[in-house]
Amino acid sequence: MKYILLLATLLITLGHHSFGQHNTEISDPIIVIHGGAGFIEKSMLTDEEEKEVYAAIESALEAGHKVLTDGGSAELAVVAAIKILENSPHFNAGKGAVMTAEGRHELDASIMRGSDLQAGAVAGVTTLKNPIEGALAVMNESWHVMLQGEGADAFARSQKLEQVDNSYFTTPKVKAEWAASKAEGYHSPISATLRKFGTVGCVARDKNGNLAAGTSTGGLMNKEFGRVGDSPIIGAGTYADNKTCAVSCTGQGEYYIRLGFAKEISDHIAFGKVSLEKAVKYTLFERLDPMEALGGVIALDVDGNISMEFNTPGMYRGWKTLKETEIKLYGKED
Ligand code: ASP
Repeated sequence: MKYILLLATLLITLGHHSFGQHNTEISDPIIVIHGGAGFIEKSMLTDEEEKEVYAAIESALEAGHKVLTDGGSAELAVVAAIKILENSPHFNAGKGAVMTAEGRHELDASIMRGSDLQAGAVAGVTTLKNPIEGALAVMNESWHVMLQGEGADAFARSQKLEQVDNSYFTTPKVKAEWAASKAEGYHSPISATLRKFGTVGCVARDKNGNLAAGTSTGGLMNKEFGRVGDSPIIGAGTYADNKTCAVSCTGQGEYYIRLGFAKEISDHIAFGKVSLEKAVKYTLFERLDPMEALGGVIALDVDGNISMEFNTPGMYRGWKTLKETEIKLYGKED
């Protein structure tokens, strides 16, 4: 009896310490990436641009997956992959990010770890070269979840994260798109999405079966200065919980915030006991779509199921497992 009690205590203790963890067996490392949803069609890219976008997604998948196969954590894989996309001029994150109505760059990023629900985010940073590193530092080195504006930039400097002039983020293409959007004089999420896509995001599962999610963006073209989208908001643009799934979103942030989109997917799995695919499809097509909002999402669950859905013509996306790699840039049929 004594031994049975001892064993029961031990099992309860072990169960308690492994809260949210899924490390009973070695899991295959998996990484999934998006590079933004929007009006992405083949005719919009030159052959050279297409090659470069493809290559950037490929190296992001490889870098992230290498972290995982080397035994690194899911959140470090997410950061490695997102950094590569932030440094590429082809995405609306880091270099190549969209501009505010004032013609500056204000960048948002977030990260979340599924094993203990720790999260970090920066909003409206202006000189931090890789905003995803700022989000990671907020998660690991501060007791907060989100820092914004000057405070976020100052925190990044204090963490010795690489700083650049705000003009580093500008590319000729983004400047031309910004000028065109100003000439049209619009201020709406729909027209902003027509003009530019390319927010980046990543979800990953490491060898211990732990999940993480991250998202990084310049926001919406010609946004008001000070505007914050869904990408740095935990539960809206990013969410990860080992008990359900990891999610990263792209699209018209105002709607994703109102729905608590990423957390809603997780909740459908937690409370509705539905599959990842059902949860993603329901949230995108039955909840976001009726609001006439546009966007996409990638998600990954603890069992390694992957979902990549969008209601726009295309979404840059890709995934890599031990055996397979797939990269797609346009619609489902392309
Ligand atoms: N969701 C981002 C935002 O609203 C934009 C995007 O995904 O393209 O800031």
